[in-house]
Amino acid sequence: DVSHGPILYLEGVSVSFDGFRALNELSLYIDDGELRCIIGPNGAGKTTMMDVITGKTRPDVGQVFFGQTTNLLELREAEIAQLGIGRKFQKPTVFQGHSVFENLELAMKADKRARTSLFARLSGEQRDRIAEVLATVGLLGCEATLAGTLSHGQKQWLEIGMLLMQDPRLLLVDEPVAGMTEQETEQTAALLTSLAGRHSVVVVEHDMAFVRSIARKVTVLHEGHVLAEGDMDAIQADPKVIEVYLGE
Ligand code: ADP
Repeated sequence: DVSHGPILYLEGVSVSFDGFRALNELSLYIDDGELRCIIGPNGAGKTTMMDVITGKTRPDVGQVFFGQTTNLLELREAEIAQLGIGRKFQKPTVFQGHSVFENLELAMKADKRARTSLFARLSGEQRDRIAEVLATVGLLGCEATLAGTLSHGQKQWLEIGMLLMQDPRLLLVDEPVAGMTEQETEQTAALLTSLAGRHSVVVVEHDMAFVRSIARKVTVLHEGHVLAEGDMDAIQADPKVIEVYLGE
C-alpha cells in the first residue's frame, strides 16, 4: 500500500476519570484517505478516543495531530470541527420536520467556512453539490420527503449526507449499522467504502460481519490501548483478541 501521510496521529494519549484510565498511552496512526474500523469490548475507550479527537475531552498527556502539522490540543472544539472533522453519533439527528433537501441545505449553510446566510438563495453550484451528495448517500428522488418519515437507515444516510455537505477531511462514525436491516447494512457498507479516498473515515462498530465487509485494517482497543491491529483474518486469529472477546 502507498502511504499518503497521516490524517490523524495520536501518540501516547492517556485520559483518566477520577483515577480510572479510560485511555492508557494510546497511539494510533490513520493514513489520509483510509477507512479504519475500531472495535473493542464495552469500556475499551472507543468513545473517549473519539471525544479526544474532536476536542470534547482533553488528554492528561500525549499528542494529537491532524494531518502532518495541526496540533489538535491547541484548538477548541469548534475550531477542530471547522478544520473538517465531522462526527456522526449513533442516533440520527436530522431536522424531522424539514425535507431531505432542506436538511442538506441547512447543513451546508451551517458551515461557518462557507459564510452563506441561512436566507440566501442557493447558487447553481450549491444545488449541484446537494444533488451530488443525494446521489452519494442513495437519497436521489427523496428530496421532498420529510426527514421524519424516512426509514431508520435513510435517516442515518441523510445525516452522513449532512456531514458531507461540509466536505470533511475526516469523518468519525459511531456504530452506523446499529438497528439497520440487512439490506440497509449492505448499502451502508457500500456508502462508507465509497467515501474513503476523498475523505478519511474512522468507524466504531460492533457488527463484526460489517467490519469485515468494509475495512482492510482494523484496530482493536482494550483497556484504553491498542491490543491488536491488522486485517480481520489476522485479528480474529489473534489469541489476545480471542481472550478478550471470550471474557466478555
Ligand atoms: P467504549 O466506548 O469503548 O465503550 P468509553 O470510552 O465509553 O468506552 O469508556 C471507557 C471507560 O471510561 C469506561 O469504563 C467508562 O465507564 C469510563 N468513562 C467514560 N467517560 C467517563 C466520564 N465522563 N466519567 C467517568 N468515567 C467515564
